[in-house]
Amino acid sequence: PDVVTKIAAGEVIERPASAVKELVENSIDAGATRIDIDLEQGGTELIRVVDNGHGIHAADLPLAFAAHATSKLRSADDLFRILTKGFRGEALASIGGVAKVTLQSRRAEEPAGAEIKCDGGIVGDVRPWGGSPGTRIEVRHLFYSVPARKKFLKSAATEIGRTTDIVEWLALSHPGLHIVLRHNGKLVYDIPASASFTDRVALFFGGNVRDGLYHVDSGPADDNGLRLQGWIGDPAIDRGNAKLQYLFVNGRWFRDRSLSYAIQEGYRNLIMTGRHPVAFLFLTVPPDQVDVNAHPTKAEVRFRENSLLFSLIRATIKNRLLKENL
Ligand code: ADP
Ligand code: MG
Repeated sequence: PDVVTKIAAGEVIERPASAVKELVENSIDAGATRIDIDLEQGGTELIRVVDNGHGIHAADLPLAFAAHATSKLRSADDLFRILTKGFRGEALASIGGVAKVTLQSRRAEEPAGAEIKCDGGIVGDVRPWGGSPGTRIEVRHLFYSVPARKKFLKSAATEIGRTTDIVEWLALSHPGLHIVLRHNGKLVYDIPASASFTDRVALFFGGNVRDGLYHVDSGPADDNGLRLQGWIGDPAIDRGNAKLQYLFVNGRWFRDRSLSYAIQEGYRNLIMTGRHPVAFLFLTVPPDQVDVNAHPTKAEVRFRENSLLFSLIRATIKNRLLKENL
């Protein structure tokens, strides 16, 4: 691949876990209700994602690997009204530039599917494929063409750990989604569609975390269109130094130091057993008030009114804990 592709790939795809995130988000955007993820050697040898989403038309398969080709944005203005996970059209182009990828897909209304391969940025021909409706993508030998990046990967155990984190927050933010994760043929998670949010918390973090959760809801959207829903932990739950804080905006996971601090402020003056309060917070923010385009991996977002969100989080948590007489 050319230098530009390699640089772009490095920005979006840092490691196997970032590839898994992009692939699973594509499956979610395609309306999948079941996603199977298989990894070998932490994902460095193989990442396979199989979904039952709406699939890709055979004629559109070559476009999937084209840089900046997305089927999800129609105008530049749409960038400020983003509801799908993907929108840059960079992920598959990046992955295809630095790995050996086979993409197979079939739309439900088509009698048969089709496949295409992309090997280090070289896109092959579209061929018939006899699979069931949905999309199946195999990524082999990630970064084989970029040895410098491959060197930065950690052990298989570390890499699978990062993927597990991503599968956890995807499962927490998509109730009703059936996700299966396997590593080297061994089952890591099989999270059925019927598992509730709190079932998922128990599965990932233990029954004691689930049992100490309080539901929070700031009520209908306020004058600024903001709402906060979610779950917060009893301050007496001991999580040691683990930081179980998950923030989502319009269903998208993100990190934000100042809003983490708002959580801390909500617990102010309470005696804490662990160092960080447990919180799973889902924010609803009008799409034109949030810029999810701030960072290539979309882990950081920018809000037009950060201080309003800060106050909303702090007040909602404080009030809820007061109601428990904590
Ligand atoms: P983006 O998600 O930003 O549009 P990607 O590079 O991740 O860009 O994907 C390129 C295009 O390939 C998507 O816009 C979509 O049309 C198609 N695509 C990728 N994965 C899937 C999938 N699992 N199911 C259906 N379509 C997909
Ligand atoms: Mg995408």
